Parts: sequence; C-alpha cells; structure tokens
Amino acid sequence: MTLTVRQHRDDAALKEGLLLVDGQWRQGASTWTHHHPATGEEVGTFAVAGAEDVDAAVRAARRVFDESPWPSMRAGERCRLLRRCSDLLREHADELRALQALDNGVPLSFGTVYAASVDIAADVFDHHAGWIDKAGGDTLPPYQGGDHLAMTFREPVGVVAAILPWNAPFLLFAQKLAPALAAGCTVVLKPSEYATFSVLRMVELLLEAGVPEGVVNVVTGPGDPTGEALITHPMVDKVSFTGSRETGRRIVEASAGTMKRVSLELGGKSPAIVFPDADVGLAGMTTMGMVTLGLSGQACVAHSRALVHRDAYDEFVGAAEMIAGSVTYGDPFDPAVLSSPLINAKQLDRVVGFIERGQQEGARLVTGGGRPDGDLAAGHFVQPTIFADVDNAMTIAQQEIFGPVLSVVPFDDEDDAVRMANDSEYGLGAGLYTSDAKRAFRVARRIRTGTVGINGFNVEPHLPFGGFKESGLGREGGRSAFEAYTELKTVLLPLGDEMI
Ligand code: NAD
Repeated sequence: MTLTVRQHRDDAALKEGLLLVDGQWRQGASTWTHHHPATGEEVGTFAVAGAEDVDAAVRAARRVFDESPWPSMRAGERCRLLRRCSDLLREHADELRALQALDNGVPLSFGTVYAASVDIAADVFDHHAGWIDKAGGDTLPPYQGGDHLAMTFREPVGVVAAILPWNAPFLLFAQKLAPALAAGCTVVLKPSEYATFSVLRMVELLLEAGVPEGVVNVVTGPGDPTGEALITHPMVDKVSFTGSRETGRRIVEASAGTMKRVSLELGGKSPAIVFPDADVGLAGMTTMGMVTLGLSGQACVAHSRALVHRDAYDEFVGAAEMIAGSVTYGDPFDPAVLSSPLINAKQLDRVVGFIERGQQEGARLVTGGGRPDGDLAAGHFVQPTIFADVDNAMTIAQQEIFGPVLSVVPFDDEDDAVRMANDSEYGLGAGLYTSDAKRAFRVARRIRTGTVGINGFNVEPHLPFGGFKESGLGREGGRSAFEAYTELKTVLLPLGDEMI
C-alpha cells in the first residue's frame, strides 16, 4: 500500500495558515503549498509575507514595545503569563506532535523524546518565568573622585526577529519566545517554511494564554522574500536565529547597517571521541542512534564524526552497524517508526552527493548508502549509512551532511584525538566515551566546542547551549539566554557636588 498522510491531515483539520500582525490574522502577498517529506502529498497552504507584510508586522512590534505598558509589566504578572503559556503547550502536546509529523515528517515516537518534545518547550517557558523577578543589576562603589551611586539595570533589548529552522520547532520556538517575552521584548517570528503549521498552533496557544496583541507577530514564508525583509528591517533591534551557517553569515552581514544584536545557533560536525577503556558498544549504539534515529541525522548536535581508538575500532563499527540495521522509517504516525525522511528534495540530493563523495575519496562504505524503493520511493528517505577508514581531512569528515551518515575516523592516542576533534570549522558539541574520569575532564577542557557530553549527551532548559567557532554566536538555555534579550544600562548619580 502506498504511504499516505491524507487521513491524518484531514483529522488535524488544518486551517489555512495566515500571518499574524498586531493581533489580526491576515493573508500575505502570496501563498506556499507544503508537501509532505515522506509522501510528497500536499499538506496545506500558508501565506507568504512580502516586504509590506513584514513591514507591518515589525511596525506593530515596534509600536507595542515603544508605546504600550508591555515592557514594564510587573514581574508577578509576567511570570504568571509565561506559566500559562507553559501549561497550554503541555495540554496540547499530542495535537502539536501530530502537526509536527505533518510539517516535517518527524515521527510521533520521536516527539516524546525529551529534547524533541513539547514537554521541553513547556519547561523552557517555566525556566524563563523564573528569571523574570531576578532581572536585577549591580550597585557599584565609586572607583575614584566624589561620592556617587552607580547602578546597572537590565532592560529589554526591543523588537526581536526570531527565525526558526524546521527540525526542532518545539524546543527552538520556546528557546526564542520564552526569554524574549520574559525580558519584555516584542517579537516578529518567522517559522521555517518546512515547519509552519505546528508553530502557528503554538502561537495561537500563546494568545490564548493572554499574550497581548502585537507582542508576538508572525510572518510565514521562505528566506526570500520573508526572511530577507525581516533581517534588513531597520526597526528590528535583535535577530535571534537558528539554522544553517550560510544563512547565519547573511544575517551578520545584514545586521551591520543598524548594528542589530545577533544570536546565532548554527550547524556542526560534532565528534564522538571513543577511548578503548569505554563501554565501546554503548558508544557505537549511542553515536549511530544520534545520527539516524528521530531526525535522521538532521540535528545540529548529531555526533556525525566518530573518532575511535584503533583498539576499539572494530567493536565500535559493529555496534553502530547493529543500530543502522534496526532503524525503522516510513509512516511518521506509525508508533513503530523511529526515524524521519530528509526534509526536501534539495537536502536529499545533498546527502546523496556526500555519500558519493565519500566513496570517491576512498572511505569504506560499511552499510547503507542507498535509498529505499517500493512504498517509500516517493519520500525523501536515505538508508542509515556508515563510512569507515575515513581520514579526518575528507569532505565527509569536514562538512555538515545533515543526514543519516556516520564517518568513523581511527586515532592512535589522546593528542591525536584532540587535534582531529578540533580540526573543524565548527564547534557545537562533542561526546567523550571513557571510564577514566581524569582523562574525561582533561579532554573535555581541550575540546573547542560549546557542549561536551561524557558518556552521554542531552539538551535541557537550564543549560547554556551554543557553539564555538562557526557554530554560532551566543547561547540559548539558562541565564545567559535570558540576558541575551536584555541590554545592560548603567545609571550614575552623584551624591555630593562633584561627580569626580
Ligand atoms: P536554513 O538556514 O536554510 O533556514 C533556517 C531559517 O532561516 C528558515 O526559517 C529559513 O526560511 C530562514 N532563512 C533562509 N534564508 C534566509 C535569509 N536570507 N534571511 C532570513 N531568513 C532566512 O536552515 P534549515 O535547513 O532550516 O536548518 C538546518 C540548519 O540549522 C543546519 O545547519 C543545522 O545544523 C542548523 N540547526 C542548528 C541548531 C542549533 O541549535 N545550533 C538547531 C537546529 C538546526
């Protein structure tokens, strides 16, 4: 039987997707029809915001920030508002997971894994609700001269353009919206054109929770024209972006004109480093699981480059191969399905191109490398793939593939492993596998990445998350994420006749 998501689409009663400007839902300059990545079927149509729509959304956000009481709402009231957002997200978790499966083809089974769940999104709102009444500053002593008071205050940064990728809409929606609302900013949100319906529903829930009109505005559509109009708009104070390095570079360029604040969560080529004293089987299964289960390797933190000591090499590859053989993909609504299609035809071609390149450059294809046929042929599926005997300089060890492909590179000693781990333009995450605690901390400190997991890896609301090098600017999660939506102001008051 041919795979179809038609029934689920009808059950979800998908509404036409509209723009949200100043509390009103409205049509855009044109429309976009979303096709399902697992079946190619039409899922639904949503508005594409043109430059005029984006301008209206930004002006609404500007006016509400500059003229309404929103930025100075009392801490207790703001805290209760964020907690209502959290409660409503939790109550609608099943509905949101189904919408996500229609958007990006991520299976329902993966939508319950904490880092990909609605639960973590709700927890992120709760976490940032907790910072609201702690947004204090310092009182500083005079450095020289006459007596005076010097105080610092945290103030909201202003109008935030929040731009999301398609692969983790729950977590990333929350990681941008929650700290922005907690700090008192207004937002113009642009979801990915490949995960729009689930995000629109989350926005409806924020409105239901009581977020005032014009505080959150939504412009749907692709990078061109919608994203471009947003990042170049002079009334935007900050761009908070998660997505590819290429788009991140464009945002940095576009922000220069009005010196917008910029937070970037970009890609990675994160290493798993496996020493022979580790539970090597567990390391192989965990690493291959990150690259194939759930998002089919389309995760920024996937440990897609395994650096494995020669003494552990065969055991590691064997364990990874076992996981590759057990990954199920297909109908995202089938609870037995554990992994996703690639998001679109462009990404499919890209991944297939990397697999060909790996073979041309001399890596050994252990398993996978092809595409399923039959019922799954219309979807963007690629088999879980392992390359062994990879040299760290090869394309498949250096470039972010963003697909179910693991490159396994052998190493001889700790220095060799650290050198190769750091020989990357990226610096997002890393996994260390060893039973030697001293080695674990020694190596963790030497790795140039934003997060290092020792014998395990997770993303949680209170933990700073982000990248060194070309993996990004700034951190999401935790106090630093909240502070990134504020400006620090210093106020000076002489207490006598002279300041200095
Ligand atoms: P993408 O850069 O193609 O798109 C991301 C968003 O940017 C989308 O909303 C898109 O419409 C928009 N966009 C595209 N061009 C734009 C432009 N010129 N101006 C403004 N907006 C524009 O990325 P993607 O394919 O959606 O996501 C995959 C990438 O995201 C991968 O590189 C992955 O590693 C990265 N990612 C990083 C994290 C993280 O936390 N570090 C999390 C998830 C994904």
